[in-house]
Amino acid sequence: MTLWIRARLAAAGARRRSRAARRLAAAALGAGLIAGVGAGAAHATPVYTSELAVQRVSLCTDAGLTCFTPRLDATLLQAMYDPTGILLLLPAPIQILNFSFVFEGAEARLEDALSEFADAMRPPAAAHTAYMGGTPEIFGSGLGLAYVGALYYPFGVVQATDRLSLAASTTLFAHELGHILGAPHDGDGNTAPTSGFIMASVSTPASPATEFSGVSLLALEGAQLPGAPGSLTGATAVPLPAPGLLALGGLGALALVRRRAKG
Ligand SMILES: [Zn+2]
Repeated sequence: MTLWIRARLAAAGARRRSRAARRLAAAALGAGLIAGVGAGAAHATPVYTSELAVQRVSLCTDAGLTCFTPRLDATLLQAMYDPTGILLLLPAPIQILNFSFVFEGAEARLEDALSEFADAMRPPAAAHTAYMGGTPEIFGSGLGLAYVGALYYPFGVVQATDRLSLAASTTLFAHELGHILGAPHDGDGNTAPTSGFIMASVSTPASPATEFSGVSLLALEGAQLPGAPGSLTGATAVPLPAPGLLALGGLGALALVRRRAKG
């Protein structure tokens, strides 16, 4: 009997300890879940379903003395693209020496910079690659330009000067790459809000957007990328654009528009 009582007491103690342990465990689990949810919202483990090499190109004047290299925060750029499932590969920048910008005053003309850059890069060195060139200060209100929906004509240029913060440059880069991958401007014939997201047609560099709109995500997820991560297979020729596709998608689109101080 005594043994039995002791056994019962011991069992009750064990149960109490067990309940306490379970409560502790539950509390820890709850905390873990809460922490997990919080962390998940900000840093969900991305699942990549496709990949794209994005080659930055330094456009240099004066026999290479002055070069303009697209500036970006690679980690931030990838975080922007994580929700699309696209893994971006960013090779080290390459240079085009003696690039001839068409200037208007002291600033480059954006449309000319893009067409000259595309001409200089053709034929592209590798398939599965988008090319982004850097420019000096740009005349007018645009800060970047790219062909839209143009993985078959994958060129864009962005202003690459210190006047833009690294965060703003990254958003600009993400915006132009978004065009190349087929994303339209938010609110341009679609239901996305016209401001607050990366594909807004007008933005303020002081508060650059860091997320794509739902409309953009749909477009980007539908981009015709070559294959799953790990499928890039080095240099092969990029198919020439079909004339119809080029006419359909080959229009440039302005990116972030800086608000110039009046006067
Ligand atoms: Zn744009």
